[in-house]
This record gives sequence, structure tokens and C-alpha cells, in this order.
Amino acid sequence: TQIDWDAFTQALDPVEVIDEPVLIKKRSRDFFWYSPILNAELRRCFGDLVAVPKSVEELARCLATAFDFDAPVVVRGGGTGNYGQSVPMDGGLIIEMTGMNKILEIGDGFVRAQAGALMADVNAALRDHGREMCMFPSTQDIATIGGFVAGGSSGIGSIANGMLRDPGNLRALKAMDVTSDPKEHLFEGEDVLQVHHAWGLNGVITEVTLRTVPAQDWIGCIATFDDYATAYATGYALAQMPEIGCKLISTVDARITDYFPRLKGHVRSAKHLMVSMIPADQIDAFRAVIEDNDGVPDLTLTEDQRIAAKLPHVFDFSYNHTTLQVLKADRKATYQQIGCPAPPDPQAIADLRPKLGDDVWMHHEFAKVGGEIVTFDLPIIWFTSEDRLAEINATYAANGFPVYDAHTWQVEGGGLKNADYRHLAWKKRMDPKGLLNSAKSMAWDSVKDLSPEDIEAKATT
Ligand code: FAD
Repeated sequence: TQIDWDAFTQALDPVEVIDEPVLIKKRSRDFFWYSPILNAELRRCFGDLVAVPKSVEELARCLATAFDFDAPVVVRGGGTGNYGQSVPMDGGLIIEMTGMNKILEIGDGFVRAQAGALMADVNAALRDHGREMCMFPSTQDIATIGGFVAGGSSGIGSIANGMLRDPGNLRALKAMDVTSDPKEHLFEGEDVLQVHHAWGLNGVITEVTLRTVPAQDWIGCIATFDDYATAYATGYALAQMPEIGCKLISTVDARITDYFPRLKGHVRSAKHLMVSMIPADQIDAFRAVIEDNDGVPDLTLTEDQRIAAKLPHVFDFSYNHTTLQVLKADRKATYQQIGCPAPPDPQAIADLRPKLGDDVWMHHEFAKVGGEIVTFDLPIIWFTSEDRLAEINATYAANGFPVYDAHTWQVEGGGLKNADYRHLAWKKRMDPKGLLNSAKSMAWDSVKDLSPEDIEAKATT
């Protein structure tokens, strides 16, 4: 249906809108360009109007108006997702959440904030209370807490505190429905999983409550090794030591470090890296572990020393920031998301490396899932064709390393693998007209005419 956007804008008053085409185009993008495949598919998808609500009431007005006009809606936080999660495939209204950014409560072991709060701001506020977020993505300066809950999964802190979905990390959230009279709904305990990682297709998160942990003085460390499997084995050894409470452990192939110019002169060149964050009072024990494993602890900096040396955070060389450092120099690079056999097996990594070819450079993140130490590989891949990417995926899979495809814009296509019918049942309840980011679900069309209960029943069959 054709929407009268002038009438729509009038109906939104007094909510701030952005209707300049250049700015709408900017807000129709995220970091999908990491993938040449997604880039080709998504770069010409744009919204029609952006609204920037500043309160729950203004957000309700946006959603009621969208409901009245049958307008597709995509919610946007910082727009740092990697799979086009916040790209409006069907045009329509983009709701930018960054105006709803209040930190509402810092309590005993938790922080409650509006969904549009930036995670760096939340962490800064927590510091004044001697606390920090139990995990955050390396994009914390531009990513919102609501976007992390709707689109993210883990981050810096996950080696200590698990995945975001692990019990107790995401304590509660509120989400608003898309009806003629939108209301907030509270999800607590396990029920947060009805909305977590649903890519904003089953409600607009207005508020989240996350677990916090005591703040520590972290030392940013980079150690170097002659052999990749040894760096990986040392990472695993470190992850298992109760006396060293790491916040981050990442290993990076030596060839990737050529794309880290800011580390030149600070770490040995052409060596494999282990990037980590270690509590200040455990740094001697850390150094001993590195040296016992034939590594060199080249860089161990307090936050003040890092600032004085004008160096980036060590986490700028971890998670998908590693990929970003390479992409800054060469857009032919891309990446993939790979699960690894658990428990971590350095020999399996050593055996796999030569099978992958020179166009795949490993980079592992260590995390806990349900209390178990696991790793996942976010390799740099020098993209030549979709066929070659498929071949690389097949090599990983054939060797027992499952692929969670990063080159798909559908929620079922990546980590999720199958439709999440609990998400879709809640979509039916919260978004009966199917206006919220519906294109991102492959399964929605096949269930949209069923009742929420019938959709939910599919989850158990
Ligand atoms: P957006 O990209 O704006 O949105 C993400 C999804 O959530 C979209 O589907 C959007 O529609 C939806 N959404 C946003 N706000 C709301 C809301 N209030 N209610 C309902 N739906 C909403 N991810 C990780 O998990 N861990 C990492 O360590 C990590 N590192 C990254 C590093 C780089 C360099 C990049 C580019 C990405 C990384 N990511 C990581 C992915 C992404 O940055 C995070 O998931 C981030 O938290 C997303 O937040 P955002 O505010 O930018 O969300």
C-alpha cells in the first residue's frame, strides 16, 4: 500500500522526524558491508522516514501511527549489526532509539536503562558505583543496550560471565507492542528469551535490566607466540585457571597483525597474538603462564598507561573489531562465524589450519556457554567468490566445526539455524499486523495467520 508520508509526519507531531533523503539513507544501513554478499543484496534498501522518540509516550505515538497507516517499522539502535538486522527491507518507518537513553537505576548487582542508552555511557555510570557491565560488545561507544539485547549475543566479559542468554545476565526487559494503543510488557527471568535476539521483530524494547559485576582495574595485555596452536592452547590454559579471572581472551593469526599498524613497535612483529584483559593484581601470574608456554608478554598496560601511550583498547583487536581493522585497509576481506569442538582442542586447530588454504586466517574468541569454556573462530577470509566461500564453509563443517553463517540477512539463517517459534508467537501477540522487521524472518509468512498458541505449539513439535 502507498503511504501518505506527509500525513504520517503530521500524525507523529511532536515527535522529532528526519525526512532528508541523505540522512534516511544513512540510517537505513548497518555494518552488513562486512559481507560482500549482504552488501550486494541490501545496499539499495532504504526506509521512508526516521522518527526519534525521546520518551515512552513518544514511542507509543510512533507505533500507534505505524499501526494506523499499516507502515512497516524497523527499530534502530546504533546500527552496528553485521547482518543487516536494522535495514528496512520493506521501506517504511525507522525508529531511532538513541533519544531514549536514560540510565534509570543502578541497584544491587544490576543496572536498569532505557533501550537507547549507549553501553559506554552505562559502563561509565557504573564505574562511579564500583561496578561494570558483565559483558559488552567492542562497539560499546556507538551501540545501544537495547540493540545489544535485540541483536547481540556475547562480548568482552563472556569468558568470565557467559553469553547474554545465560541465566541471570539479562534479568528483565520491557517491550512495547504495535497496536492502536501500544503498551509496555514486562519480561522477567527466563521469559526474556522470548525477545532476546529476535532482531526487533516481536516488540520494541524500551528498557533492559542487566547484571553487573564488581569493577576491576584491568590490564590490557598482548602476548606473542611463534605458533598459532600454542597461542590457542595458552588461551585455553588461562581460561581454566581459577586464580586468574580474565575478562577477554582472543587469539589472532600472525598474518592478521599486519593490519594492526597501531601495534607496530609495541609487540613483536609477524607473531601470533593472544589478546587479553587481566586484573591488575593477577598480572604476575599471567606473565608466568605466558612465559611457561614459550610466549612473550609484550604489552601489559593499565588504562592510564594506555592513554599516555595513545594506544587503542586491546579489545579493538578482538571480536569483530579484528575484522574491522583489516577492512579499513582492504575491502576484499570478509569473515565467517565458526563454532569449534568443545572442550577446546589445540591439536584440532593445528590440524585444520593447513586444510583451509591461505585465504583463511584464524581468529578465536574464548567464552563460556552454560558454564563450559568454548571457542569460536571469526576468521578473516579473502573473498574471491561465493563458491569459494561455500567451499571454506564445507571444509570447516566436514572437520567438525559448525558454520553459523554471517552472510545471511534472515534471523533463522545464522546462529539460530531453525525458526524460533517462541519469538514468532510473541510477534503475533505484540505485532498482530506483522509490521516489525518481518522480512527478516523466513518462517513468519508461514505462521502469521495462526494463533500465538498454535505458533508456540510448533516450538515443541
Ligand atoms: P542495531 O544494529 O541498531 O540493531 C540490532 C538489531 O536490534 C536490529 O534488528 C534492530 O532492529 C534491533 N533493535 C535495536 N534496538 C532495538 C530495540 N530497542 N527494540 C527492539 N529491537 C531493537 N555483537 C556481539 O554480540 N558481540 C560483540 O562483541 C560484537 N562486536 C562487534 C564488533 C564490530 C566492529 C561490529 C561492527 C559489530 C559487533 N557486534 C557484536 C554486533 C553489534 O555491534 C552488537 O550486537 C551491538 O550490540 C548492536 O547494537 P546496536 O545498538 O548497534 O543495534
